[in-house]
This record gives sequence, structure tokens and C-alpha cells, in this order.
Amino acid sequence: MNLSKSLYTKGIQCQKLLWLKKYKPSVLTPPNAAALAVFETGNVVGDLACELFPDGKEIAFSRDYDSMMAQTQEYLDSGVRYIYEATFAYDGILVMVDVLEVKADGVCIYEVKSSTSVKDIYLHDVSIQSYVLQKLGFNVSHSYVVHINNTYVRDEALSLEELFSVVDVTEEASPLVDGVPRVLAEFEESLSDKEREPDIDIGKHCNKPYECDAKDYCFKVQRDIPDYSVFNIFNLGSKKQLELYEMGIVNIQDIPEDFTMTQKQAQAVQNYKSNAVHIEKKAIAAFVDTLTYPIYHLDFETFQQAVPQFKGIKPFMQIPFQYSLHIEHEDGTLEHKEFLAEDGIDPREVLVRRLCEDIPTNVTVLAYNMSFEKGVIEKLALRYPALSETLLGISANIKDLMVPFAKKSYVTPSMNGSYSIKYVLPALVPAMSDAYAELDGVQNGSDAMSAYATMSKLEAQEKKKLRESLLAYCKLDTLAMVEVLKKLREVSE
Ligand code: SF4
Repeated sequence: MNLSKSLYTKGIQCQKLLWLKKYKPSVLTPPNAAALAVFETGNVVGDLACELFPDGKEIAFSRDYDSMMAQTQEYLDSGVRYIYEATFAYDGILVMVDVLEVKADGVCIYEVKSSTSVKDIYLHDVSIQSYVLQKLGFNVSHSYVVHINNTYVRDEALSLEELFSVVDVTEEASPLVDGVPRVLAEFEESLSDKEREPDIDIGKHCNKPYECDAKDYCFKVQRDIPDYSVFNIFNLGSKKQLELYEMGIVNIQDIPEDFTMTQKQAQAVQNYKSNAVHIEKKAIAAFVDTLTYPIYHLDFETFQQAVPQFKGIKPFMQIPFQYSLHIEHEDGTLEHKEFLAEDGIDPREVLVRRLCEDIPTNVTVLAYNMSFEKGVIEKLALRYPALSETLLGISANIKDLMVPFAKKSYVTPSMNGSYSIKYVLPALVPAMSDAYAELDGVQNGSDAMSAYATMSKLEAQEKKKLRESLLAYCKLDTLAMVEVLKKLREVSE
């Protein structure tokens, strides 16, 4: 069948996805920058986890799988205890074991993941490796998933023992190993016809355990599901969405009046159907009146590290490295302040000092979805007790520009029932969306995150360009807030 362990897990998610991967890959959506960053993180974590198993031998990856297997056999014959990327094949199924431990009475499999828990799909990943090894005559005594422990806080030195959790999954994976022959028989059947795709309908499996890269093909190309359909109704949940789909309804206009939904969902549907703009002037005016001048429009950019590089950092915690401030005065003038940390350092201390200089503790600070900005500032306050009072003062003054939209005081059909800035901004200030599209290099939060995380690997010239892109992007974020507030003032008058 020519299956790898990654194809096997794709097939577990959906046999049609497996078929498309093998016979029609051109219809699949290529990975975006965020997916590539996750992949890169996986590589870094995988390499680091090997250090938990010292003095091992690595099988270098090549397209020549026979030589990878021959090298594995050589290491087995010479008594190597740990083999990284140990490579085996049985009956057309190729597996590379992240770490294979060779003991007197058998072998152990270690599957390394950069996530923070054991997910069901990992057990399938382990089971196909176990199956192949058992078929080749190995006694697989234990299987483990090695994942990131997100409660670990780094001290001066990195402790691999604390960073990683090693979870014995032998028992949970065992029934799945027994089930592998049945699964393989099913795969074989669907793959035997190279011309005809398996007849599998869309469903929950399109997003679980991973968002499928054939969604554009299955939803839009094959089923003509529009860009905004029942699958996009904010907070509807996949159960209700599929209920509608199974009733033959994909267009929101076709949702029956008596279909059971929450009040918010029903309102989103109603707004879309009626194509009407809903504005509660009084409520918006009441919100605007809570804001006193000068108004400090604040936005942070943060990044995460699976492997903390600095003291006091937890895996995947949000580390602020940049902010933009637009200061709006009563006479309408705007002042701009910004901060972008140097790369390759812990950006928090220098950021926090500048933030405390830039924002007085007696002014209105405005954020969009303030729980994020508050969370960042409050964590900084814990980390830097000397500045804690100032930081908590700033945090206490934060007001949330999202409130009128979250409370549905201002709704337009093109917000699609959402109050995320992603929908609110183009609905209220379309010109700002064009401004984002014209930005060079960094156009959204995840671009910013990966730009900063990778910056220290760049040459000076490239780095300079990327810093300019980051500054331009973050500046636009707070300018967008100024424009949204302007619009709120206009409609509330
Ligand atoms: S989009 Fe859904 S049905 Fe289509 S291949 Fe992916 S998981 Fe299967």
C-alpha cells in the first residue's frame, strides 16, 4: 500500500483524505505560515527530546529508505541503546520511530509531540509503529508519548526532565494495535480504486483531530458551499451546523424560522437574513461616555516558545515583544508611541519599563478584547514586582472597545454574527482592510508572531526590513481602533 505513519493517521481521520493525499494531492490546500511554524516547532522539540535519551545514534533522513533501514539494523546489531528515527518497513508500511529504546527483553517506542497533552490520534500513531515492529518480530514492551509539560517554569538552565512529560500509553494503545489489520484492510480497499474517490460526506471529522487540508475541495469545489454558510455562524457549534447540513440546508437564508438556536445565534441569523444594520444609539453613547481624554489605544504583539529560552518563561506562554500606542487627545490630535524589542533577548523587562514610562496610571487605556492585554500586563506585574503597582494601575484603567459589538449594540450583516475585530473592522472602516492588505510581510498577528520568533536567524538587512514591517503592522492595529471608536461616536450622535 505504501503507507507512512503520517498517512496512516490521515486515513484514521478520513479515508477520503488518505485517498486524496495519495492520488489527487493537487486539490489540497498547501500549509500556511502558521502550519509551517508548527512543523518547525515539532522539529526543534523532536531534536531536543532526543537529549532525554543520551548517547543515541540518529538515522539521518533521506529518500533512500532502504539505506535508512540498513543503518537502523547496523545500530541494532552493534547494541546501540537509543536510536533516533529508527526506520522499519513491513508489508509496504514505513515507520520512523522518534526514539527507539533497545533493551535485553525487547524495545520501547517513544513518540515525541510538541503539544501539551496526549491526544487520541497519537495513540494511533504509536499503534501503527508498534504493529510494524511486532510483525518484524520485536517484542514491544512499552510505548510512550513524550510531550511538553506546560506547567514547567524555566530557571536559569533548561531542565529537560521537567520540560517533557513522558506518558506510558502501552495500555491505551494496545486495542488499537490489535485493530490495525482491520484498518489496513479498509484502507487497502479504498485505495485499490485509483480513479474513484471514497464516497465520504463532510462531517465532524473535517476539523478533528486536525483541520483537514481538503476542506476547500470537499466544501467549496464539490458541494458548492458558499464562503459564508451555516458552517460560519458564530458559536453555532458543529452539532447544529451538521444538523442543518443533514437537513439539506447550507445557505443561511434557508434556515427555518423554527430551528432551535440560542438567542445570539438566532440574532446573527436574523441580521444576515434581513440584511439590516442594527444600531442601539443609547447603548453606544453610554459606552463612549465612559471614555475620558486622553485615550491611550493599546495593542500588544506576543510570541510563544515551546521550549522556553529565558528564565521565568513557561512553554507556550504569551511573551510580549511589541506594542503600539495611539494617544487620542480631546482636540482630535493623535500621538503615536511604539516599542519593539531587540530579538534574541527576553523582551519583557525592557518592554515593561517603556510601557510604564509611556502610559500614565490616570488615563483611559483602550484595548480590543481587553482580556488579552490585561492578562499580559498582569503577568508582567507578577514577574516585575517593583513595577507591579504601576502595571496594575494601567490594567485597572483598561476599557474594552469590543463591548458595543459583543453586546450587539452595533451589528451589520457583514459582521457575520461575530464581534471579532477581523469582522468588525472591515464592516465599519473598509479602507482599513485595504491598508492591512497593502502591508508588506506582516499582515496579521500570526505573521507578527513568527516574524519575531525567527528574526534572530536573519541577516541585518532582512532583519531591518522585518522590523519595519512589524512596526507598520502594530501601528495599523491601534490606528484601526481609533477609527472604530470614531465610527462609534458618529453613529451614537
Ligand atoms: S474535508 Fe472532510 S470529507 Fe473531505 S477529505 Fe477532509 S475530512 Fe474527508
